[in-house]
Amino acid sequence: MAIGIDRTGAWQFNGFMPIYEYQAADTEQACDYCRDGFECLRQLSDPPLSCCPECGTPIKKLISAPAVGGSQSGFDDRAKASGFHKLKKLGTGEYEKLY
Ligand SMILES: [Zn+2]
Repeated sequence: MAIGIDRTGAWQFNGFMPIYEYQAADTEQACDYCRDGFECLRQLSDPPLSCCPECGTPIKKLISAPAVGGSQSGFDDRAKASGFHKLKKLGTGEYEKLY
């Protein structure tokens, strides 16, 4: 999986990367960047964004397109069956073990 930016500045992709759309959870605190939502390309291995990269206000995920088959619950079942643990980030450095 590789990413490059060509001379025009357009993203070019070799391989699949999901696009996530985020928006500030609290638009009162939002900056221009996150107030109306923004799209973010994330590798599947990247942790989900929880804060706006510009202003740090908490954000929520609007859309995800992880077209890797199956539902999220199916993914959880497979991960569980494979012996993985799922951690939910609660705050800075804090994680809740979901299984
Ligand atoms: Zn922001």
